[in-house]
Amino acid sequence: MEIPLSGPDITDLEIQAVLNVLKTPYLSLGPKLPEFEKKIAEYAGVKHAVVVSSGTAALHLIVRSLGLGKADEVITTPFSFIASANCLIYEKAKPVFVDIHPDTYNINVTKIEEKITDKTRAIIAVDVFGLMADWDALGRIAEKHDLFLIEDSCESLGAEYQARKAGSFGQAGCFAFYPNKQITTGEGGVIVTDDDQIARLAKSMRNQGRDENAGWLQHQRLGYNYRLSDINCALGIAQLKRIDEILAKRDKVAQMYNEKLKNMKDLKLPVDLPGSKRSWFVYVVHLTEKYSKMDRDSILDKLRKAGIGCSDYFSPIHLQPFYIELFGYKKGDFPVTEFTSERTIALPFFNNLSEKQIDYIVSALKKIL
Ligand SMILES: *Cc1c(COP(=O)(O)O)cnc(C)c1O
Repeated sequence: MEIPLSGPDITDLEIQAVLNVLKTPYLSLGPKLPEFEKKIAEYAGVKHAVVVSSGTAALHLIVRSLGLGKADEVITTPFSFIASANCLIYEKAKPVFVDIHPDTYNINVTKIEEKITDKTRAIIAVDVFGLMADWDALGRIAEKHDLFLIEDSCESLGAEYQARKAGSFGQAGCFAFYPNKQITTGEGGVIVTDDDQIARLAKSMRNQGRDENAGWLQHQRLGYNYRLSDINCALGIAQLKRIDEILAKRDKVAQMYNEKLKNMKDLKLPVDLPGSKRSWFVYVVHLTEKYSKMDRDSILDKLRKAGIGCSDYFSPIHLQPFYIELFGYKKGDFPVTEFTSERTIALPFFNNLSEKQIDYIVSALKKIL
């Protein structure tokens, strides 16, 4: 049996939506862009959505719209996808890492204040693996120290914290639409915000710095080509129409894993948080302390040999070669992140993963352990 790590869930609805755009002359900057934006904003419960070419581009434009740059420090987590820290380096701002909580894998809010200096201007918190960060505490800290708060909600579309949707915390949030995310546009991303200024600047900067209604060769500020085509937007609209069904399918897959793995003493399973609703992005289990990184890597190897797609989400950002070179980070700097990342296993996770496939994965994992 061959089971991939992840995969998109594309139906006739999506295929028809894309074909329909191809029959019009509006392949980019057409009507599907504002339609997708309106629907995303409604879904996240925010005033504005600005669709861009990736989640990374969304983060970059949030950082630029807030004017973060040289000499600024921004607090964030080393246990994330690289983009949540790279977006600062693009603007020469310094990511200042704070270690994670050992159970939620989200930034440890009790360790933030000791890292705040007179250069700190913002916090980027990530809803890791679709589990909401501690937004109450983050909001309090940001307010007390007069910091911007940015939500990297690229993994948490549809998640909720105290009945409020992911993406709506802080000055701005963002979603990503690569094919392994909850919904996909192939490539794509979006900034979600209630802030008129951030929305206006992000719209201009994704389109080469043009202001609204300005001529094609009229550039008000430094911009980029971070546009998303109407073909991608149509795909996104169709996926978003199915979001409830998609999230329910993912929840069902996760609950099957939870049930079938619950008696395995060598594994720590994903946690639930009271007052939060997780939106399942990946299904990640954690080996207990008696396993080393080498043991974990050999387990990944054996799973792959059995045809099972798997991964070591995440490899710590501070230990990536160019972060070591730029900032001098070393092993031991963020022990909880390192301990966690040495022992995690992301198992195959996608909407249409069948019970039979899950049984095969669980029995292979049991045999290997
Ligand atoms: C997926 C993801 C992004 C953005 O990814 P793109 O590939 O640029 O769309 C950003 N942050 C996190 C935490 C992510 O998981």
